[in-house]
Amino acid sequence: MFNSSKRHNGEVAKSHWKTIQSFMAYKSKTMPLNPKNTSKRCSRCGMINAPKGAKYECRGCGLRIDRQLL
Ligand SMILES: [Zn+2]
Repeated sequence: MFNSSKRHNGEVAKSHWKTIQSFMAYKSKTMPLNPKNTSKRCSRCGMINAPKGAKYECRGCGLRIDRQLL
């Protein structure tokens, strides 16, 4: 399936992930999540902040949490 062509390998890899994504969406009956701002949006109030370092602090609700747990 893969060969020495970087372009070909890229196309194969993209189509494979789209197939997996469509199977998962079909089986779980869910909608795909738009990844935009998911690492910046507060999980409590939904406000978009600019996180710094490993800690996340929300200016809206005061939530302080490890960014890995956001
Ligand atoms: Zn918040």
